Amino acid sequence: MAERKKMSLTMKVLLGLILGLITGVIINTFFSDNVFIDTWLTNGIFHMIGAMFISSLKMLVVPLVTFSLICGVCGIGDIRALGRIGTKSFLLYVLTTAIAISTAIVLAQLVGPGKRFQMEGKEVAKVAAKEAPPITQVFIDIIPSNPVETFANGEMLGIIFYAILVGVSLLIIGRPVKRLVEGAEMLNEVAMKLVDLVMAVAHIGVFCLIAKTFAQQGIGLLMPMASYFFTVLGALAFHLFVTILLLLWVFTRFNPLTFMRKMRNAQAFAFSTASSNATIPVTLRSVHERLGVNNSVASFTVPLGATINMDGTAIMQGVATVFIANVYGIELGIVGYLTVIGMAVLASIGTAGVPGVGLIMLAMVLSQVGLPLEGIGIIMGVDRLLDMCRTAVNITGDAMVSTVVGKSEDNIDVDIYNDPDAGTFDEDEEIHVDEDVEREFQEIVDSPLEDE
Ligand code: ASP
Repeated sequence: MAERKKMSLTMKVLLGLILGLITGVIINTFFSDNVFIDTWLTNGIFHMIGAMFISSLKMLVVPLVTFSLICGVCGIGDIRALGRIGTKSFLLYVLTTAIAISTAIVLAQLVGPGKRFQMEGKEVAKVAAKEAPPITQVFIDIIPSNPVETFANGEMLGIIFYAILVGVSLLIIGRPVKRLVEGAEMLNEVAMKLVDLVMAVAHIGVFCLIAKTFAQQGIGLLMPMASYFFTVLGALAFHLFVTILLLLWVFTRFNPLTFMRKMRNAQAFAFSTASSNATIPVTLRSVHERLGVNNSVASFTVPLGATINMDGTAIMQGVATVFIANVYGIELGIVGYLTVIGMAVLASIGTAGVPGVGLIMLAMVLSQVGLPLEGIGIIMGVDRLLDMCRTAVNITGDAMVSTVVGKSEDNIDVDIYNDPDAGTFDEDEEIHVDEDVEREFQEIVDSPLEDE
């Protein structure tokens, strides 16, 4: 009985996902002209609950990242170790992205998507590609000129930078601010508990998000774009099941299947929200509580990865470049493709972990090699579905690097990694208020006010 309950969160989320998919496809196939369903269901209830769910995930991100980073830095207790963890994770993030885009380009060259694509008769969106921000601005934005504004806007790189500096300062000051560190630890506990609360209703949110997306994005949309769509999917699958798992095994010798099983939940969230940023709380929870990576590493590598590591996005950009070059009959040559690899790595650093930004950053890659930006209009129609898939790959890459860095720093609990039940969500345990605490609160509330 208890066993059944422990598995319930992942199962419920996956069930929500599958039911949402079926509902969405049924609506799209049979009721696409039904105004009532469109108004009250797809754009009514599904839209509302889905948007509320995304907001509740986003609500968790900034406080969780801030407190867990401060605690993480204080937990490391050594500024040199922090530098080491930072360097290792940055290099691994760049390496995995470069491998991802190279795989995508090679596969796309083999498949040749877009070679027979006729421009005539195809609906080319007239939307001009939005301008991608210059990469220099991404680096400038790491330093928050106004931390309050940075926190209010949820700008991750600035938040990470500032929280690390606060943690380092606390470490340097030491004993006099011990209480403050303890306070941050308590607030971190609260932030993690909020994650559990939101996760308890996640299956409903996931159902609504997926049902709405599939009700609007019919499968028929895929047909003219099938070669592009399936090439991206193939490259994503290769990266997910071969590259990531192989790298994990080579660097850690851990069982890759255990890793995959424990990441299922976070992947379902990433797929449903199409946002690495909104998934940070779930990824962090999976990496820390299910894979056993110590908070001092995970609190740093997970938000950083969600912000600068986009393997799946780079894959889409690689295939899209080859596809657009084929459609317009432009030969890029080896130098062109090397440029694409370099630009996609930079674009990955500059891509915020929110839905659809990868497509905007594609403009930066295309313009660098002289491909027409209108090409983005062609692939726009199928981008939402690919966005969901690539976001799941993005966060899996973050978790793999976190595990590798955790292992290399001897900061991972191997028993937790190997325990299939570790960190599983038991609603009875997690949600119910501790009875002692409840009684104490009640006593405080009931006690008469003392006169001053
Ligand atoms: N949605 C992706 C993410 O959040 C970014 C993108 O490729 O658009 O990771």
